[in-house]
Amino acid sequence: MGREADPTTELSVVIPMYNEVEALPVLVSRLRPVLDGLGVPYELVAVDDGSTDGTAELLGAFRLGWPELRVIGLRRNSGHQAALTAGLDRAVGAYVVSLDADLQDPPEKIPEMLTLARGEELDIVYGVRADRASDSGFKRWTAGLYYRLVRRLAGPSVPAQAGDFRLLSRAAVDALKALPDQQRVYRLLVPWLGFPSGQVTYERAPRAAGRSKYPLGRMIRLAVDSVTGFSAAPLRLATWLGGFAFLVCLGLMVYTLGAHVLGHTVAGWTSLFAGVLFIGAVQLICVGLLGEYVARIYTALQNRPTYFVGHDTAEQTQEAARRS
Ligand code: UDP
Ligand code: MG
Repeated sequence: MGREADPTTELSVVIPMYNEVEALPVLVSRLRPVLDGLGVPYELVAVDDGSTDGTAELLGAFRLGWPELRVIGLRRNSGHQAALTAGLDRAVGAYVVSLDADLQDPPEKIPEMLTLARGEELDIVYGVRADRASDSGFKRWTAGLYYRLVRRLAGPSVPAQAGDFRLLSRAAVDALKALPDQQRVYRLLVPWLGFPSGQVTYERAPRAAGRSKYPLGRMIRLAVDSVTGFSAAPLRLATWLGGFAFLVCLGLMVYTLGAHVLGHTVAGWTSLFAGVLFIGAVQLICVGLLGEYVARIYTALQNRPTYFVGHDTAEQTQEAARRS
């Protein structure tokens, strides 16, 4: 499904967009001078993730005056990581930078990333948020929790506070494309590849316009995919809890037998009820965890594509060139 790399394109910038019509004009006005100023052939790959607010039309309008802008339209909303996959699969550059559309990650850092990658022959340059003061307290707290958890599970090679603003070399992109993973969480997969890497730090800005496309539900989904994609430890939770419950049970057995012998067998409604509720909850959690992994096996077996490309302006251009 991917395309061959094109040696004449030095840089591809991949931007997933879902209903970003408000942020788009600001994005273009800040990104274009940076990219034009690089002085190398580039393409800007805008992945329209099934937007319904006129993002596609606006992209079409910008394309008229910006030949480097390439638009890949997905047939329906597939989610941030799937849209990113579509962009990475089809980008042709020797280096590929991924960026959010809302300008929370500054495009002005792209030249620095490129210079660092070239100068030190790095395959990966992470954009690391030095300061998240602009995010809400809740977002900062959940993000802190998330990064602590994934670093424990996927190893300390995962840089804390590195989202999806990063530069990848062609070798790293090809390695990612060769992976069979379906529910991809790039911020864990990329460090796991083990390529030489560096980082640039930046201050995370507030969203330029529009609203976050990551409601709590999607954040939880990302966290669950991150954990189940990198660790089977939660599956062993049932065993540990079972062992613990067994020990507690042994202790209680001695106590109840003692009480029986001594004739102290009182009603004990509260302890009984609490015990039943607790064991019930623990069992449901363990079955739910099992379900998460079974669901992963299920989707892996179905092996359906995670996105469908409706149109790609690069292909239309090629087609037109062939016909004329
Ligand atoms: N996005 C996407 N598809 C989705 C949700 C989000 O392509 O289903 C894009 C969105 O347009 C933005 C990026 O993913 O460019 C990050 O989303 P957002 O800024 O809303 O996330 P947050 O910064 O709030 O975590
Ligand atoms: Mg954002």
